[in-house]
Amino acid sequence: MSRDTPHTALLDPLAERLGERGLLREPEAMTRYVADWAGDRLGEPLAVARPATTDEVAETVRLCHEHGVAISPQGGHSGLVGGALPANDGSELVISLERMNRIREIDPVNFTLTVDAGCILESVKEAAAEHDCDFPLSLGAQGSCQIGGNIATNAGGLNVLRYGMMRELVLGLEAVLPDGRIWDGLTRLHKDNRGYALEQLFLGSEGTLGIVTGAVLKLTPRPDQSRTALLGLPSVAAVVELYGLARRGCSDLLTAFELIPRRCIELAMEATPALSDPMDDAHPWYVLMEVAATGPVDLDAMIEGLFERGMERGLVLDGALGSSEAQAQQLWQFRESMLEGQRRRGEHLRTDIAVPISAIPDFVARASDAVMAQSPDCEIIAYGHVGDGNLHFNILPPRDLAEGDKRDHLHELETTLFAVLDDFAGSISAEHGIGRTKQAAYLARLSPVERELVEGIKALFDPQDLMNPGRILPARH
Ligand SMILES: Cc1cc2nc3c(=O)[nH]c(=O)nc-3n(C[C@H](O)[C@H](O)[C@H](O)COP(=O)(O)OP(=O)(O)OC[C@H]3O[C@@H](n4cnc5c(N)ncnc54)[C@H](O)[C@@H]3O)c2cc1C
Repeated sequence: MSRDTPHTALLDPLAERLGERGLLREPEAMTRYVADWAGDRLGEPLAVARPATTDEVAETVRLCHEHGVAISPQGGHSGLVGGALPANDGSELVISLERMNRIREIDPVNFTLTVDAGCILESVKEAAAEHDCDFPLSLGAQGSCQIGGNIATNAGGLNVLRYGMMRELVLGLEAVLPDGRIWDGLTRLHKDNRGYALEQLFLGSEGTLGIVTGAVLKLTPRPDQSRTALLGLPSVAAVVELYGLARRGCSDLLTAFELIPRRCIELAMEATPALSDPMDDAHPWYVLMEVAATGPVDLDAMIEGLFERGMERGLVLDGALGSSEAQAQQLWQFRESMLEGQRRRGEHLRTDIAVPISAIPDFVARASDAVMAQSPDCEIIAYGHVGDGNLHFNILPPRDLAEGDKRDHLHELETTLFAVLDDFAGSISAEHGIGRTKQAAYLARLSPVERELVEGIKALFDPQDLMNPGRILPARH
C-alpha cells in the first residue's frame, strides 16, 4: 500500500488527538514494534499509536473505522504466532497499549483487581502481593507480556492445573469495538448468569474482535509457604502415573508439575554455566513440581510422602528438594534456562499441543518415532505442563542443515507431528493461539459448522474486517 493513500489522511488528525508521545511515525522510532518475539519475521506498520486512555483508544479506532484503515493491536509483544506483528505492506496501524498501565482498583475483600489492559503481568502480580493476594497466572514472559495480551491469547502457563487459564481468571472486561464504541463489561461479580458471557468471547480472540482496554481479575489468597522438588524418573509413563499420585496425595495443593527431558537439563546447563547437574546420575526424564498453601499445612511431610510412594513403585529414581527459597529458585532456573538454551540453537519448531493427560506417554512415543523416521538427525525437545496435557513438542533441525532449508524442513516435520496429533484428537494450539503461523493447520481441522460460527462471530463484531485482519481467519480483502 503506498504511503499517500487515504490512510495517511488518518495520521494528522490522530497526531493532533494523541500528541507527540502518542503517535510514532518515523521508522527508527517504530523498530521495536515491528519484529516478532523470536526476530524471525518483520512487519511494516503505517504508524504506531500509543493511546493513554480508553477514550483515546476509542477515538483512534473510530478514526481508523472512518478511513477504512486496518488495526494491529499490540500488547507486550511476546506472542509466538505472529498475531501482534503488523502486515509488511504499511497498511496497518499498530495500536500499542503500553501507556495504559494503571492499576485502577484493588478490592482484597472481593478478591478482585481492576486494571488497564496495558499493565505488565509482573506488575499486576506485585500489586496483588502488596495486599496479601496473588494473581496466579505465571509464565516465562511475565516481565513483558500485558494483561490485554494475556486475555487476547487466553494465556496459560505454569499454574493452570490449580488455577485455570486466563479464561478462569477474568470476571469482567472493557473493550473498544472495531467501530470505536466502548463496551463496559467491568463487572466485579463472581457469579453472573445473565445471558451470553460476552467477556468470554474476547478470551483467546487474538485482537480480532476488538481492543481490550481494561479487566477485572480474580485474585486468590497469597500462599505463605511452598515447596519445590526436582525428581528423576525412568519414563514418561512413570511421570504420568506419579502425576496421578501427586494430584490425589497432595490435598489438591499442587501448583506445578512440569515434564522435563534430560536434553533440557543439558541445554539449561549450557545456557547457564553456574547450574550443575542436579543429581548424581543422569535420568531420562525429570519432573519439576511445586506445592503451595496458606495456613498450617505440613508441605514437607506431603512431598516426602509422595517421594517415598514414588520410590516404592519404581516411579521415582532420585530427587532434589528445594527447602529454602534460594534452592527452589535454583531448581526453577533449570526450567527457565532450558528455554534460552533452545533459543541459542536458532530457528526451531515450537509447538504448544495438547492431548488427554492419559495419552501423553503413547503420544510422545508415536510422535517421536514418526519425526525421527523422517529426520534422523533432528533433536526432539518434548517438555510441558503434565497436568494440562500440554506439551511443547519442539524440534531442533539437524545441525548441518543449510540455513535456507530449515524453515521448509521444520514445516514438513510439523505436518507429520500434527498428523499423529489428529490420531489422538489433540489440539494444535493449547497456549499460543492461531495468529498467522497456525492458520492453515487450524482451518484444515475446522468442521463446516464450526467455520460458519467462527466467521459469523467475526462478521458480527467486525463487518469491515479491520481488526487484526488475517489472524485466526484469512483476511477478507
Ligand atoms: C518466553 C515466553 C514464554 C511464554 N510462556 C507462555 C506460557 O507459559 N503460556 C502461554 O499461554 N503463553 C506463553 N507465551 C506466549 C503468550 O501468548 C504471551 O506471552 C502472552 O500471553 C502474550 O501477551 P502480550 O501482551 O505479549 O501480547 P502480544 O504478543 O502483544 O499480542 C498477542 C496477541 O494478542 C493481541 N493483543 C494484545 N493486546 C491486546 C489487547 N489489549 N486487546 C486485544 N488484543 C490484544 C495481539 O494482536 C496478538 O494477536 C510465552 C511467550 C514467551 C515469549
